[in-house]
Amino acid sequence: MSFADLGLCEPILNAVKSEGYETPTPIQAQAIPHALAGRDLFGCAQTGTGKTAAFALPIIHRLMEAGIPSAKVRRPIRALILAPTRELAIQIADCILAYSQNTQIRHTLIFGGVSQVPQVRALQRGIDIVVATPGRLCDLMGQGFVDLSHVETFVLDEADRMLDMGFIHDIRHIAERVPKVRQTLFFSATMPREIRELSSSLLSNPVTIEITPVATAAETVEQGIFIIPNSNKPRLLQTLLTQPELTRALVFTRTKHGADKVLRHLMQAGVRADTIHGGKSQSKRQRALSDFKTNRLRVLVATDIAARGIDVDGISHVINYDLPVEIESYVHRIGRTGRAGANGIALTFCDPSERSKLRAIERAIRQPINILKTPNLVVVPAAAAAIIHEFDDREPHRPGRPMDNGSADGMPPRRPQGPPGERRAFQGNRATGGPPRRRNYSSR
Ligand code: AMP
Repeated sequence: MSFADLGLCEPILNAVKSEGYETPTPIQAQAIPHALAGRDLFGCAQTGTGKTAAFALPIIHRLMEAGIPSAKVRRPIRALILAPTRELAIQIADCILAYSQNTQIRHTLIFGGVSQVPQVRALQRGIDIVVATPGRLCDLMGQGFVDLSHVETFVLDEADRMLDMGFIHDIRHIAERVPKVRQTLFFSATMPREIRELSSSLLSNPVTIEITPVATAAETVEQGIFIIPNSNKPRLLQTLLTQPELTRALVFTRTKHGADKVLRHLMQAGVRADTIHGGKSQSKRQRALSDFKTNRLRVLVATDIAARGIDVDGISHVINYDLPVEIESYVHRIGRTGRAGANGIALTFCDPSERSKLRAIERAIRQPINILKTPNLVVVPAAAAAIIHEFDDREPHRPGRPMDNGSADGMPPRRPQGPPGERRAFQGNRATGGPPRRRNYSSR
């Protein structure tokens, strides 16, 4: 499958070629033909899948097909793309600039935290595509600077994050101002109930494309953290293992040496356990794995690399005895439980000195993780709570930081600790990465 097979016009094919894209990504291959045909789309996909091109290329193609008015005519906004943050809006606008490089299409960016004057000026000159964060767009609409009555395509990118950031009213307000007959392309990394409700109110007979099963796996995982000094981790693990709910636990350590040490503690406590790490022969690793699968072992202690090939259903608990070295490994680790629709629990032990790393994990997964300090999680017996309380007094609970529009790393407020049934959807890894390419949006 090539971009030409998707039916995109020559200027776009040349642009993607000059961006170095050779073949469409799965979401592009699946979404572009439907979007070109004018269908509504519901895309469940995370950043990094190529979803920006999946909606931007068809928008550019359709605008070209309908004809771009001459430079003298004041052009109405024909495509509106909403994004939760300034950073994402800039990235999208960068992509549009690249993909429309061989066309006369004009786009602009609208976001808060900066002067509105250049944005208003660009709107007044006439713009084909607007990329906006909801708050500033609503402000400018309120001041009469934005006419959305000619919008043909309406895109909501990272809709789940927009809801998390409290933009629901702004989104509804904007949706009321775009024509009823339009194309709507809706993207979300997760599909909680609120997203399904919002999408069904905005989309008409959509094609659904799901690219990230990771999101659904992690949605079924209840996550919690124990802030506990390294020296107390063996005790906490043993205490947790007194709970019958821990039927099959995968324990992650940072090093082989660490795995062996945990194993020694577990053996002393009479727990059926083994390790799987790079220091063991392949045959020993395989035996440990098959013993774990067949329930001869209750606990398997693993390092990240050795755990790569582990594909075991029915793991009740993942325990991050040590925080992972790579932030991404956290998501891979917790995805080992909660498989095939089963509920899983991921518990992370975090030394007080590692709080900044914990914060980085929360930023990467775009959600706070509950700090466990009282025994109301079913796996935490009173003894464990007592251990944790000792340290809680010294390490007060971090307050949640409200997220504001345009923040690169804002987190939703930390939730109070809840019962096990209560969970938040996995938000996908949207670490904002390095600085985006900068362009002067008021000059185009
Ligand atoms: P996105 O998920 O839209 O943020 O895209 C993630 C990254 O993939 C961006 O750096 C894009 O430039 C790049 N990308 C998108 N589509 C393709 C493709 N078909 N081939 C290669 N890179 C791509």
